[in-house]
Formats: sequence, structure tokens, C-alpha cells
Amino acid sequence: MTIKENYNQIMSQINEACQRSNRQEDEITVVAVTKYVSIETANQAIKAGIQDLGENRLEGFKEKFEVIGKQATWHFIGTLQSRKVKEIIDDVDYIHSLDRKSLAKEINKRSNRKIPCFIQVNTSGEESKHGLQPEQVNDFIKLLGDYENIEVVGLMTMAPLTEEQDVVRNCFKSLRNLRDQIQEMNLNHAPCHYLSMGMSQDFEVAIEEGATHLRIGTSLVGKELQ
Ligand SMILES: *Cc1c(COP(=O)(O)O)cnc(C)c1O
Repeated sequence: MTIKENYNQIMSQINEACQRSNRQEDEITVVAVTKYVSIETANQAIKAGIQDLGENRLEGFKEKFEVIGKQATWHFIGTLQSRKVKEIIDDVDYIHSLDRKSLAKEINKRSNRKIPCFIQVNTSGEESKHGLQPEQVNDFIKLLGDYENIEVVGLMTMAPLTEEQDVVRNCFKSLRNLRDQIQEMNLNHAPCHYLSMGMSQDFEVAIEEGATHLRIGTSLVGKELQ
């Protein structure tokens, strides 16, 4: 299958999930996660009409940005070390993995514009997953009001890798509930409209639960590297 064929297939699944849940397709952004593929393949994704690319490692981000540049909208979706912030901050459009004050402080310091950020939340309780505990999120977002270069545009989570749909769905539901609570606080620095949730395995459930940003790697662009 070519990337274009994968993309068409995924778009039709998105369309069906939107119909099931009474949503509009244009509320949903597909971020092609290129962490397992070459620069060449990432470039093919752009040629296939994909606009948004996501990387979880600094090196992958930099090497692909160097070639593809501003043709794409760039999402940083992985754990980000504070001391590496300066290396991506001018080029990144969205950061999906804001999960601690030290990182917020560094983003604020290194940037000369507002950076749209998602707060990463650990909705599954798995120790292996990054992100804030749900009960920490409100206070964390309030303190981000001190940082003029950070705008909280949404929340991000990863569901566990399991066949149990209910477990996955509950993670997504709890992220949406949290998002709704934050919106009710009406904070200028945290409009928090978006939900970044859903990957190759579980994006249809994520749409049904309100996802606005799907992060899809393997089933869209494939897996070439480890
Ligand atoms: C790798 C990754 C994805 C995409 O995973 P696939 O299962 O390949 O679709 C999404 N989000 C994050 C944070 C990732 O690291």
C-alpha cells in the first residue's frame, strides 16, 4: 500500500467514526507520526497531501525539518528534555508533551512568540506512561498563567496498548472530562479546545470520544526504522 492509499483508507474510517458520533470531519487533524520512517518517506507523506507531521525525538525532528521545512505543520509529541528546547523552539508549531514546570519555564524563556501546547496527561495510570496525573492538571494549568509564551490549546494522552476497548475508551473519556473542566475555568492562557488522542490502534474510539488531533504512525506511513 502506498501512503496515499493508507491515507484514503484512514480518511474513510474517520468519516465513518464522525458519522457515528455526529461530528464534522473538519474538526479533526491527522498528524502523521514519522518517527519510524525515513526523511524520504516523510516527504512522500507531504506529497500525498498530509499537512501535519509529528516527531517524538529531537534528532528525527531536526533532520526532517531541515529537508521539509515550512511545507508542513510540525508537532513535537515526545518527551522533551528542558535543555533541548532551544533546538526546536523556533521551528515547532505545537508541543504535545508539556508535563512539568521546568519544561514550561524553558519554553517560555527560549521562545519569542506564544507556543501552542498540549498538556500531557497519564489517564491510564500505567507507570510507563509520561504525563501528569489527572488530579494535578488544574493546578498545573493555573500556574502556566505566569508564562506569557505558553498557550494551553489542549490536552494529550496515550491509551494503553490493549484489546480491551472499554479501558481505552475510559482513558479518552477522562481526558475529555478534564478538558471540559478546564474550559469552564475560562483562563485566557488556556482556551484548551483540543484533544490530542488516538493512534493507529485506537483512533476510531478516540474520535467517538471527541479527539481533535489524531497521531497516526504505523498504519499511515508505515514502520521502516526501529
Ligand atoms: C509513536 C507515537 C504515536 C503513533 O503510534 P502508532 O501506533 O505508530 O500510530 C502517537 N503518539 C505518540 C506520542 C507516539 O510516540
